[in-house]
This record gives sequence, C-alpha cells and structure tokens, in this order.
Amino acid sequence: MSQTAPLTVLRGTPVVPGVAYAHAVVATAAVSPEAIARFEKAGPPDADEALAAYDTAVAATADALAARASALSGAAAEVLTATAGLTRDKGLRAAVRKRLRAGEPLLGALAGAVDQFAGVFTQMGGLMAERVTDLRDIERRLTARLVGEPEPGVPVPDQPSVLLAEDLAPADTAGLDAALVVALVTERGGPTSHTAIIARQLGIPCVVGVHGALTVGAGTPVMVDGTTGEVTLSPDPEQAAGLVAEARAAREALSQWTGPGRTADGTAVKLLANVADGTSAVKAGDGPVEGVGLFRTELSFLDRKDEPSVEEQAEIYAKVLEPFADQRYVVVRTLDAGSDKPIAFATLEGEENPALGVRGLRLSFGNPGLLERQLEGIARAAEQTGTETWVMAPMVATVPEAADFAAAVRKHGLKAGVMVEIPSAALLAHQMLEVVDFLSIGTNDLTQYTMAADRMATDLAHLTDSWQPAVLQLIAITAEAGKQAGKPVGVCGEAAADPLLATALVGMGITSLSMALAAVRPVGAQLAAVPMDTCEQAAEAALGAVDPMAARAAVRDVLAR
Ligand code: PEP
Ligand code: MG
Repeated sequence: MSQTAPLTVLRGTPVVPGVAYAHAVVATAAVSPEAIARFEKAGPPDADEALAAYDTAVAATADALAARASALSGAAAEVLTATAGLTRDKGLRAAVRKRLRAGEPLLGALAGAVDQFAGVFTQMGGLMAERVTDLRDIERRLTARLVGEPEPGVPVPDQPSVLLAEDLAPADTAGLDAALVVALVTERGGPTSHTAIIARQLGIPCVVGVHGALTVGAGTPVMVDGTTGEVTLSPDPEQAAGLVAEARAAREALSQWTGPGRTADGTAVKLLANVADGTSAVKAGDGPVEGVGLFRTELSFLDRKDEPSVEEQAEIYAKVLEPFADQRYVVVRTLDAGSDKPIAFATLEGEENPALGVRGLRLSFGNPGLLERQLEGIARAAEQTGTETWVMAPMVATVPEAADFAAAVRKHGLKAGVMVEIPSAALLAHQMLEVVDFLSIGTNDLTQYTMAADRMATDLAHLTDSWQPAVLQLIAITAEAGKQAGKPVGVCGEAAADPLLATALVGMGITSLSMALAAVRPVGAQLAAVPMDTCEQAAEAALGAVDPMAARAAVRDVLAR
C-alpha cells in the first residue's frame, strides 16, 4: 500500500487574496562569506584607495539602478531613481570617509556608516524607518560590487514563479512583472510593508511573516493562498491547478462589478477611495466609488519646509475636491503630521516616542493657527468647487478634543467628524457621536495602539493584524454606537480593503468602507454576493474567534454555508 507523505504547509499573514501555484525562486539576501573574506585579505591598501574603490562601486551601482529606472515608468521608475540617489548620498560617503581615515577597513566602514544612518532613520520612525530597508539593500549591492560578486537581489525568472524572500526592498520590487512573479512570500514584513503594498498594486497573492520561507529550495513547486495565509510545498499538481483556476474565475467575476456598494439584499454600503493628491483623486473619480473617505492631506506636504499659505492649501485641496463635485463627497483629514509622517513645519523634534507623542490633532493644541489655516483652506476649496466636504481629525483621544474640533469645523459650515484610531475613542464612541456628525475608524493605528505593536515593525505581523479579536471588539463597539446614534461610522484603514473582513465589518453596522482604488471592485463584488444577515453572522463568527487565523476561517465558513 502506498503512503502519501504529509504535505508541508508554512503559515503567515495573508495580505493579498488569490491563489498561485508555481516553482519557487529565492531572492538572495547575502553576499558569500568566502568572497568577503578574500576581499578583506587583499582589499585596498590605504584609505585613499579604499575611498576610490567605494566611489567606483557607488557609481556602478547607482548607474545600474538609473538604467533600470529609465527602462520603466511611473512608481517603479521613481523608486529606482530614489534608490540610485540614496546610493550616491554625500552624507553616507562622508561617514564612510571618516571611518576610513580613522583606520577602519572598507567593508567595516561601509557597514558602520550604514548602521549610523539606519539608526537615525529608525529613530525618526514610520516612513523614514521604511528607508532602512533601502539602506540595507544599498549596503548589500555595494558590498557585492566591491568583492566582485553579482549584485544580490531578485532573480529575473524565465517562467512564472513564486518569489520567496526575507523581505523585499523597493528597488527589488520595482518593475516586477506580474506575468513572471505570480506570488510573493516573505519571512519578515507586515501587512503595511513594502512587499504587501507592491503585491496589492500588482494584484498578485501575497503572504508575509512566513516562518521558514527561506528554507524552501529554489525550484520547489509551491502553492500560495493569499486568503488563508498558507504556503503549501509540493502540493498535488492537479488539485493546485484546480484551485488556481477557481481563484482566477472568481477574480474575473470581480472585474465585472460596477457599483454602487450594496449587500446581496440591497443594504447600501458606501464604497469610497483613499487619496493622496489631485492625481490620485482624478483616478478615483473615474472609479466605481461614491466619493473619497480619506484624503490624507499631510502627504502633500512631506517635502515642505514651510507651511503653505491658505491660498496655496485651497488650491491643492480643490484639485482633490473637483472630481467629486458631481453629487459625491470627500472626507478631508486634517494634518496627520508626526510619527510615521514627519512634516518639517509641523512636527516637534526630538520626541522620545513619536507614535505616542504630539502627532495628528495634538499638534494644534500648541499651534491652533495651524489647524485654523488648514480649515480655512479646506472651506475655500469646498466653496470654490461646490463639492460636499466633510472634515475629520486624526488621533483624537477624548470627547472634549472631538467637541472643540467639531466646533472649529462647523464655524466654516462643514460637516465634522473624528477618526477612531486610539482605543479610548472607540470605547467612548457613544459620547463622541453626541458631539460630531460621523466617525471613521483608522484600523492601521487602532491596531497599532490596541496591540502595542509598531505598525511598521517587520517582526510583529501577527500582532499588527486588524483581525485581532481585541481590535474587532473595538470596531464593533464603535459601529454599534453609530447604529444607536443613527450617524455614519466608516472604516478607512487597510482593513476596509480586505473583502472577507468587509463582510464582517458591514455585519457589525459599518456604513462606509474607504480603501485604495484597486481594492474597491473585489470588496464591492464580495459584498454584492452576501445578504445582510450573512454579514451579521460573519461579524458574530469573527468576534467569537480567539485569534486572527481562527477569525478568518470562521468568516470563510459562514460565507461558504
Ligand atoms: C489608519 O490609521 O488606519 C489610517 C487610515 O490613517 P493612516 O494610515 O494615514 O495613519
Ligand atoms: Mg492613522
């Protein structure tokens, strides 16, 4: 009697749904220790020659990145150009030179300089901390050039493959071809990591935080399920092909969905877009959305040293409002500066713990003019375009904060709301709704603050998961408060983009879901397939689960009934 060997199934956090099956290719992260040892024995004899070798390696690496950039367009080209720029960074060179002059060997000087900059970026936190992945990537590329090895990174497969990596740097993923890389699996990285973002853009299944991913040999047949988070090694080929075909058919059905958002039995759920600027607003305006649920205003000012005038702000905001002047509406979020989004003219410097510091609405406590001028700019844009405009504040912790903010917004004749990103705001949702017109749950921060887990931490993917029972309970409390008050309660964090979770959120009483435009059709199609009482059962099942994986499985079971 033949015995079938048990399948090896690795598990991680699913971040982009879909099923893929292909041979594994593995991104190499390290330069071989033998080559490093050889170089260390016979490397440049003095500091001047070492610096010259560094300059040559920098030029070759940056030129290669720039050449890749010139063959691409859009975001991929921008990412590669930015990495080429960071490779040539004068500050990094000065730090290397200083170390060489102090007698350090070249590779040690490079590693030390990169550590020094990585430390600074990490302390700045958030988006700047994300650049540490870039810096480490540059260090690996330069080290490989110096020791005479090919640059490490993502192999370009010649047939459709599943890419496994420790984590992926922006330069690794820029220009990835979705026809050749059919799924991404990483050992590290969380739901908001660069890997997850790029997979979402490419529309390929992705699972992050998969322990043991790098032990999978290149060439192993792998099936990736971006809905369950399972990575199955050497599955039955026929069964795998069947599951891939099923997932593909489901995906194709999604693209037929044209809105508006409704459950199968007709309960309206507003599906909205998250936008960053006029360009993304124009794109969203052409999509099947009823408006914008989150305009992140701070993203327009990341590179600004000085606060833009009211007139300039009005112009920027009007570009976002304009595409929605046709009876739709836009929720503008006031500056969420600080922590992961430092803004030179607003953020306080030198905070010990910026995520728990003076960020978001808190910046206006010591600088009320900052908020007042922004509200004036928003009001002018609203008047100029005629678009229905709602305004909400980020990082609200107390009811008096919400009341003061609402009063300031209403003076301009606009609808006022607050974000629920801090557990205190969720627990006080009833009272919050007595003083504001609407609530919008920012599940990215709500998860971070509920679980005490940095949303950017690459090793905490299991905690920075909005399916965590405690996060779901807080969402349910907030949604119930909205139902009782008869006021809208939306979700605008990443959780809104998860079709499975969307059913449970709607079942809890959430009235709108705001997400990246690419996620709108999958979420809309999923909701259209499920009646409201099933959504309610999904909510109950998710709330009754003990952990995120159990919650996903419980909701899947409800939907499959
Ligand atoms: C959130 O925290 O979920 C949110 C939508 O805000 P941001 O991601 O911009 O912090
Ligand atoms: Mg937030």
